[in-house]
Amino acid sequence: MLDPAAIVAPPAPGRACGPCTLCCKVYAIPAVESLAGRWCRHVRPGGGCGIHAERPDHCRAFHCLWMTESWMGPEWRPDRAKMVLSLDPVTRFMNVQVDPGQANAWKRAPYHDQLRRWAAASLPLSRYVLVHVGGSTTVILPDRDVPLGPFGPGDRLVGRERMTPAGLTADVEKVAASA
Ligand code: SF4
Ligand code: SF4
Repeated sequence: MLDPAAIVAPPAPGRACGPCTLCCKVYAIPAVESLAGRWCRHVRPGGGCGIHAERPDHCRAFHCLWMTESWMGPEWRPDRAKMVLSLDPVTRFMNVQVDPGQANAWKRAPYHDQLRRWAAASLPLSRYVLVHVGGSTTVILPDRDVPLGPFGPGDRLVGRERMTPAGLTADVEKVAASA
């Protein structure tokens, strides 16, 4: 699973969080006892962090994909999209962490079609697009979505790409840590 502290890319020119604070809700931040899916108690009404100068390194280091990639349109700003995108620094998988209060946000237009296009562009590199809602994971493939449920510690995704008449797709499964 993504460790936001490992993401150190700087914001793209002109990008700023503004009123968005969604990463302060969708991720667990143990240093401030914040649970995934609940607003951190330090979020200020209207945006920003109430302990900005002393915020944990975890928070200080993280910039979501919308912040670091200027090619992402305004519809992808997390407080509009209701999801926070990031790239896993090791696997380069795209993680889409959905606001559990808007659990179907990723299924809406224009988001779902774009996630499918990113899945098609990622698959030749054996990279996957993963949607996480309330601890449950769905793999987005170019031709379908595959719900795999919760991933426990050590569980991993195994994918086997295969060519079809309609293009490249994959079979995916969750392999338990004990397997
Ligand atoms: S989700 Fe992105 S834009 Fe929103 S507060 Fe976090 S880093 Fe900033
Ligand atoms: S400490 Fe501040 S930056 Fe970190 S999650 Fe809480 S509100 Fe967000």
